[in-house]
Amino acid sequence: VTLPVALVMVGDELLQGARIDTNGPWLAGRLRDLGARVVGLEGVPDDVAAIAAAVERAACRARAVLVTGGLGPTRDDATREGLAVAAGSELVERADALASITLVLSARGLDIDAGRRRQARVPEGGGWLPNDEGTAPGLEVTVGDAVVWALPGVPRELEAMFEAAVVPALRALGHLDVPTRVVVPLCGLPEAEVGQRLDDIAAREDLDVGFYPHDGEVEVRIAAHGEGAATRVAEAEAEVRHRLGDAAWDVGSIEEVVVRMLRARKCLVTTAESMTGGLVARMLTAVPGASDVFRGGWVTYSDAWKTERLGVDPALLETHGAVSPQVARAMADGARHRAAAGAALAVTGIAGPGDGAAPDGSPIPRGTFHVAVALAGRETAVRSRLLPFHRPIVQRRAAVEVLNLLRLELGRSNA
Ligand code: ATP
Ligand code: MG
Repeated sequence: VTLPVALVMVGDELLQGARIDTNGPWLAGRLRDLGARVVGLEGVPDDVAAIAAAVERAACRARAVLVTGGLGPTRDDATREGLAVAAGSELVERADALASITLVLSARGLDIDAGRRRQARVPEGGGWLPNDEGTAPGLEVTVGDAVVWALPGVPRELEAMFEAAVVPALRALGHLDVPTRVVVPLCGLPEAEVGQRLDDIAAREDLDVGFYPHDGEVEVRIAAHGEGAATRVAEAEAEVRHRLGDAAWDVGSIEEVVVRMLRARKCLVTTAESMTGGLVARMLTAVPGASDVFRGGWVTYSDAWKTERLGVDPALLETHGAVSPQVARAMADGARHRAAAGAALAVTGIAGPGDGAAPDGSPIPRGTFHVAVALAGRETAVRSRLLPFHRPIVQRRAAVEVLNLLRLELGRSNA
């Protein structure tokens, strides 16, 4: 059986919505890659009894328990006491732990105080883990059949201690079974449609298939354990890609694949954004190496700027309004021309929360947007959508939509 591990995240701030738990997902991802199986993740307040109870529950169903947070020098840090209660032992000051803390502090020109001194207390019979990034030592105790490690809450300290001390100890426990995994990214199909097309594959007992939608992109993850896992995953991946057709690409996010394709074709791209206010440019420039293909773009929010900066015909704006496929097309064509680029992306729409209106007074519902891709030597492609979500989501979906349209157009022009 694959090594079962349970996670306990300590901190009032996590339960009060003041801080998002990033340690849990980080640990879960690392444990998956190491071949362990995370069987639970629980958040608990900074409270000795609550921590002790959670650790005891976790120790019942897991061989290893990882606790993060609450090891600090202040009164509200209760993990040390919680672990001692769960292990049924007393906290005792350890001279070697104290020496380690003193050393870290003196390197920073600080003397030890009462709070820091409390961090040298370790449940009797347990062990401690050095902290190279901070003062709080980690702890190790046994509760029932489980090994319990308490690690600092500060992500950088947690990650360093996990790699240095916990990973070798987990390997020593054994039963790690590293899965074979692939991720198939796609865009342009709703999650439900993806699920339907892949239903029989997702139902297979010898595979672990998951769908992870985010902002218009979907990741299909395929994993398998044990004998023949690599072959099984490779065959399933080929079938999945066959069924998804050109909705799927090889690897990475939509902006990454687009930059990769542009670089391979030595094609410059420019942007003309209204509703997205620069988000498309932001996404492109988040990719390392984007400077090879992107010199700049426009944020043309007003009608006047669409005309002055991009050369959009005022008659088009008067007849169809700024939120129209005609204007999206004219923005893309104008931008491509003025930037002397091989490709141009344009977005126009109504992000909301209010609805818009067409020149003839008819309402344009919020979430309406039009995206256009102009490519040298090709008919400019335009897509229209209505996604009545919250403003930032509509903006993000439109940015993803135009990048995906570029991906599809580049793929076609290649053929
Ligand atoms: P320190 O010795 O620095 O006090 P600690 O073990 O006491 O470390 P906490 O006091 O619980 O850790 O948290 C320290 C910092 O780490 C805080 O800013 C806290 O919000 C953050 N933190 C704690 N737990 C998590 C978590 N699960 N995800 C992300 N950040 C966290
Ligand atoms: Mg704390």
